[in-house]
Amino acid sequence: MRDKLLLELLDFQEIYTKRESPVHRLYRIKSLAERCRRCPLHTSRIQTVFGFGNIASGVMVIGEAPGANEDLYGKPFIGKAGERFTSILRENGIERDRDFYITNVVKCRPPKNRDPEPKEIEACKPYLMAQIEIIKPRLFLALGRYSATWLLGYKHTVSMKEIRGKILISKFGIPMIATYHPSAVDHARSQSQREFYDRSLREDLKLFADKIKELRSK
Ligand code: SF4
Repeated sequence: MRDKLLLELLDFQEIYTKRESPVHRLYRIKSLAERCRRCPLHTSRIQTVFGFGNIASGVMVIGEAPGANEDLYGKPFIGKAGERFTSILRENGIERDRDFYITNVVKCRPPKNRDPEPKEIEACKPYLMAQIEIIKPRLFLALGRYSATWLLGYKHTVSMKEIRGKILISKFGIPMIATYHPSAVDHARSQSQREFYDRSLREDLKLFADKIKELRSK
């Protein structure tokens, strides 16, 4: 059954009677998220970080949660990890503001950058569902295991080692690629671990870039 908020967010009657454009629908939902108090994360946020990018690209990147910089500036993936992500993609001919739309499973920053809790992910789900319904992606990239678990529809958090590096099918029946969150490189406990995360990220983002180019050529 559909979440009551999701129906409210999408407001089907309004879409069909007023022919509201996808940009306006998304903007209206963003305004609601900015005032949202559905989970405790609203108490510690500076602002919600709704999403950013090209909604007509047919490609969605879904991370886990905003960090300190994102909370401050209101844009996803702009800290050190975001710069790494953007730079690897650029090396592969992909520009983030042109080639995909990027968001997170929760729109408010968890305190001290902790992982989002299942209840918070569930509370925030209608916003992400609405974004997916409006953007209608043909490809997903999951950054981090919480995002990958949600997109795959698994109850238990997945092991990234087992699912990365290949094309998977999401719970929406749409192809997806999953990889480590770019911040994993910075949080590695040893040089060899750092190299492993960096190499894996580069391989998976190349696969993602190739898949975007393939979609474009069709
Ligand atoms: S994380 Fe999502 S559900 Fe929680 S307060 Fe923010 S917008 Fe609302």
